[in-house]
Amino acid sequence: MSVYLSQDTIKYLENKVLTCKREICGEIVIDTNGIAHLSNEAIGQNINGRELCDHQYRTPIIFHTHPLNTYSYPSIEDINKVSKRLNYSCSIIASQWGIWQVYRLPGITKTIDIMEPKNHEKIIPYIRDLHYKTKLASNVSKPYDETTIRYIHRNIDYINDNILGVYGTIIEITPWNKISKGLKIHI
Ligand SMILES: [Zn+2]
Repeated sequence: MSVYLSQDTIKYLENKVLTCKREICGEIVIDTNGIAHLSNEAIGQNINGRELCDHQYRTPIIFHTHPLNTYSYPSIEDINKVSKRLNYSCSIIASQWGIWQVYRLPGITKTIDIMEPKNHEKIIPYIRDLHYKTKLASNVSKPYDETTIRYIHRNIDYINDNILGVYGTIIEITPWNKISKGLKIHI
């Protein structure tokens, strides 16, 4: 069954990214029509100056936002949450550039802890590069800059093909302007 986030939910998340300085997080539940709904939503608390969610998730599909004052891509901890264990099948992260999904490929039970130094040093240059590219581009007045989206794709393609994909974890981004009739999510 294909599962979709509705256009109303997408608009809600986009609005939270653009207007709320605190991170929003929660669980995703799927109804009998294959529509994914946000559930058990919480708002981030100020931890060491960052407005972070500290949520005890009960579902395999989870979501959170990255407000404009934070990273516009999944953090290394966000990726590790999915790649390290089999508890989460998909993590949805709404950011300035669109909706990210970090998800597990069905049938692959290998895992990777990317906080381990030998794995960390392989992935971190690409994450750091995402940081510089998106940071530079956030000064651009265009809201969805195609050149930046291309850079983002180049980096995540490399990470997927050479580091995470082997362990059944994939990172994907759908830019906001490419979402018009809901978004298919990986479950
Ligand atoms: Zn995050």
